Amino acid sequence: MEPSLSSLLQAAYKPASSEADKELIERAYNFAKHAHASQKRKSGEPYFVHLHATAVTVARWGLDATTIAAALLHDTVEDTATTLEQLEKEFGKEIAFLVNGVTKISRLKYRGNEAQVETMKKMVLALSEDVRVIFIKLADRMHNMQTLAHLPAEKQKRIALETSDIYAPLAYRMGLAVVSGDLEDLAFSYLNPEAYKELKKTMETMLKEGEKHIAKAKERVEEELRAQHIPFIRIDSRVKRISSLYKKLKRHDMNMERVHDLLALRIIVEKPEECYAALGAIHSVWPPLPGHIKDYIALPKPNGYRSLHTTVIAYGGRPTEFQIRTAEMHHENEYGIAAYWAYNEAKDDSQKHTVFANARQLAWINQLKAWQETIDDPDEFLASLKIDFFKHRIFVITPKGEAVDLPAGATPVDFAYAIHSEVGDHCIGAKVNGRMVQLDDPLQSGDVVEILTQKSKRPTLSWLNFVKTRHARSHIRSAQRELESGKAKSLQFKITALDRLGLLNDITAVFAKAKVNIVSHESHRPRAGAIITIKVVAGADANAKLDLLLIQLRAVHNLQRIEFKRV
Ligand code: MN
Repeated sequence: MEPSLSSLLQAAYKPASSEADKELIERAYNFAKHAHASQKRKSGEPYFVHLHATAVTVARWGLDATTIAAALLHDTVEDTATTLEQLEKEFGKEIAFLVNGVTKISRLKYRGNEAQVETMKKMVLALSEDVRVIFIKLADRMHNMQTLAHLPAEKQKRIALETSDIYAPLAYRMGLAVVSGDLEDLAFSYLNPEAYKELKKTMETMLKEGEKHIAKAKERVEEELRAQHIPFIRIDSRVKRISSLYKKLKRHDMNMERVHDLLALRIIVEKPEECYAALGAIHSVWPPLPGHIKDYIALPKPNGYRSLHTTVIAYGGRPTEFQIRTAEMHHENEYGIAAYWAYNEAKDDSQKHTVFANARQLAWINQLKAWQETIDDPDEFLASLKIDFFKHRIFVITPKGEAVDLPAGATPVDFAYAIHSEVGDHCIGAKVNGRMVQLDDPLQSGDVVEILTQKSKRPTLSWLNFVKTRHARSHIRSAQRELESGKAKSLQFKITALDRLGLLNDITAVFAKAKVNIVSHESHRPRAGAIITIKVVAGADANAKLDLLLIQLRAVHNLQRIEFKRV
């Protein structure tokens, strides 16, 4: 698409209605074009093409002018000389806030570490703070996936994996089925190119063969619906997505005969009761396959999906799937939370409340909520579309781009112990976003944290005054105990000397003078001759007076060598 202003304005679900909206989008358009003027994508295209594509995508989802403008500006802070302050001055707090959210998420890098999956997803949500940030990020990721061919193979794999493990499931949880499916398919083609090609060929053959059957079934159903006076808007055929076909086949040992829903018919009606009427009409033509009638209207899927499904034995004993839903359900199934956002935008303030009060259907909210138990009121969440149910957690980033989940108020020392107890024990300083900070400075979500260590450094008790994690606390305590128990130990001296009269007396006198208790002493001659070895075990109080003892022992006449150890 030509990256023109008019193509962007036309893409808007509700074509930018007010002059103010148009003016804002135009200003962001010009600003982004100018800021990225000298940059090119890896494809050789001007960088601005990417920003235009991202903005067109959020516009098509029905998002508001603010979000469209933020989408145009989403890479300015990360990739150009523009600062966040400048952006705020030029476009206001809200847009700067949205761009900042996208910038923070962009610092995350997922490299296929399974243990990181949940933390990463939570972190994307927490860093977003506002669902519109996720919309922009998903639109951004969509275009990056569409143009992934231009990147080096290693980067392709990393980004495809991140898309498949983090962003596609996140989109799914938010009910953005189309986005999730598109991302999955694109990622699949990079992660498993052989299977992708093979499956694509098989699918094309099967589709060619199935199309005639589907056309015939469609005609028959239309006839029946008319005969029974059941109004319907349209009947579409839908083809199963290649990535979801692959997942299903893997569950069934790659047996194509187990897949009944490669092609399905989708009946779109106006009212919910017409869904059930249409279901009855279908069953009056063909017998349903037992166990395949699903009522996702009465019991929506966890991500909010609503529809009736049935598989019937049609012509030639062929299993054929039907999906029946209203136009409204269909739109929500495909665009989830974005659909709600768009409805909200379309209504005035008095109606907003009604839309948002209808939280019963918004099962995806509960999905998000389940990640963090602290959200009490989904209505309130909806009303603001703010993601603040992570307010007791922060998510910071390692220099390698990995996410670390910590309690709010956590410090660099907590972070160091979360990385590894050795890193915590030897921590001497920290850099946050490239700048040195104090070890007790609280971290913020999205901070990139680097810990400086020194082998000889040991934890200090004063750290206990500011650390927030139990993990750090227990490590500091046990390191401290070790240190203290070292002090509490007895000292054993091994003294080698030329034997003489009064030698042992002179040695014990040193301890007596220093007021150090002698626990025991023994002496023996390692070989015949004048050399004698004396072992003295002194009490723990000797630790504090070690220097004094050593000086005075060395002054004892005829003494050759002193060794000591803690026992
Ligand atoms: Mn981008």
